Amino acid sequence: MRFETLAIHSGDRPDRTFGAVSAPIYQTSTFAFEEVGKTKGYDYSRTANPTRKVLEDTIARLEGGKAGFAFATGMAAEATIIHLLKAGDHVISGDDVYGGTYRLFQDVMPDFGLEFTFLRMDNRQKIEAAIKPNTKLLWLETPSNPLLNIVDVEMAVDIAKKHNLMTVIDNTFATPYFLKPIDYGVDLVVHSTTKYLNGHCDVVGGAVVTTTDELTDRVQFLLNAMGTCASPFDCWLVLRGIETLAVRMKQHEANAAAVAEYLTKQSAVKKVFYPGLKSHPGHEIAKRQMRGFGGVVSFELGDVGAAKTFLNRVKVFSLAESLGGVVSLAEHPASMSHASMPADYRKKVGISDKLVRLSVGLENIDDLIEDLEQALRRL
Ligand SMILES: *Cc1c(COP(=O)(O)O)cnc(C)c1O
Repeated sequence: MRFETLAIHSGDRPDRTFGAVSAPIYQTSTFAFEEVGKTKGYDYSRTANPTRKVLEDTIARLEGGKAGFAFATGMAAEATIIHLLKAGDHVISGDDVYGGTYRLFQDVMPDFGLEFTFLRMDNRQKIEAAIKPNTKLLWLETPSNPLLNIVDVEMAVDIAKKHNLMTVIDNTFATPYFLKPIDYGVDLVVHSTTKYLNGHCDVVGGAVVTTTDELTDRVQFLLNAMGTCASPFDCWLVLRGIETLAVRMKQHEANAAAVAEYLTKQSAVKKVFYPGLKSHPGHEIAKRQMRGFGGVVSFELGDVGAAKTFLNRVKVFSLAESLGGVVSLAEHPASMSHASMPADYRKKVGISDKLVRLSVGLENIDDLIEDLEQALRRL
C-alpha cells in the first residue's frame, strides 16, 4: 500500500472488538487478566496500550521501519533513546539542532557521563575528524530548525557505517511524506509528533521508529522503564492528524514556497532560508533526497527591532512557538524556540536576533501574503 493509504489503514483498524472505524480510545491504566499469567495482550498502559499501538504501527509503516513507539513529547522520545548509550560514550550532533535537543545534550546528559561534539554536518572530512574511539552516535536533523540547513543523509550514513556508529535522525520537519531516512540506512528516526504528524496544535507528543529487533527490544524496555510514553487520548489525536498528513504536507509546501518566493522580493527582507529556493546552499541535496521541501520558512530583517515590529504586527500568523499546524505561526527563535541556546552559541551557528521563523499553515495563500505585506510595510 502507498503512503496515503497506510496513513489511514495501518494498525489494527477497524478495531477487532466492535468494528469501530475510528480507533477506540482505551482510556485505561490496567487490563484484567484472564487468569494468572494470561492476558489478552495488554497488562498495564505504561508498557503498552491498544490505542497507542495503532499509532505506533502507523508511524512505523509510514517510515518503513520495524516498530514505532509513542512518547509524551518529542523531548521524552529523545531523552529516552539517548539512554541507549552509557557513561563514557561520545555523540556527534548537528550544531543547529532544535534548541531543546541542544539543551538536553549540553546541559543534562553530560552530568551522566555522555560527551557531545556539535558541528555543522555539511562536510565529510569535518565529521570524520570529530570521530573519537568512544564515538557511538551521529545525531542528525534535516532540514534543521530554524535555519533549514540540509544534511546529506546518504553521506552521513556512509560515514557512520564505516566507523560503526549508530545514526539517529530527527525527521520532525520533513515528515516521512517528504523524507524517508530509513531508505538511506538510518538506524533510528525520532519525531516531535507535536508538529506536522499531529498537525493541529492541540497535542504534544513524540515518536521513535526502529530498524532492528535489537533496537526495538531496547527502546521498548527504556520506554517502559522510564515511563515516557504518550497517553491514549493524545495518541488518538495524533492518529487522527496523521490520516490527513499527505494532503496537509502538499498544501503546507505549496503555501511555504509561495511565501518564500514573495519574501525574496521584499527590500526589507535581507535573507530567506527555504530549501526549495535555488539560492539555498542545501537545495541540490534536498532535491535529491526529499520529495518536497516542507512548510517552514525563516528570514532575516534589517535588525532585531524590525524583527520584533514585524512579529507584533502579524494578524493571520499567530505569534507563537511551535510549528506544523494548520494555523500559521510566526516566532522569534532568539527569544522563543531557541532561547535555551546561549546567545554566543546562537551567534556562532547563525541564529541571529534578526531572524524570524514562519510555520506556513493552510490558510488561503492570498490572506497569508497580505498579512506579511502589512507587517513588512516601511520596515
Ligand atoms: C519541537 C521539536 C522537538 C521537541 O518536541 P516537543 O514535542 O516539543 O518535546 C524536537 N525536534 C524538533 C525538530 C522540533 O521541532
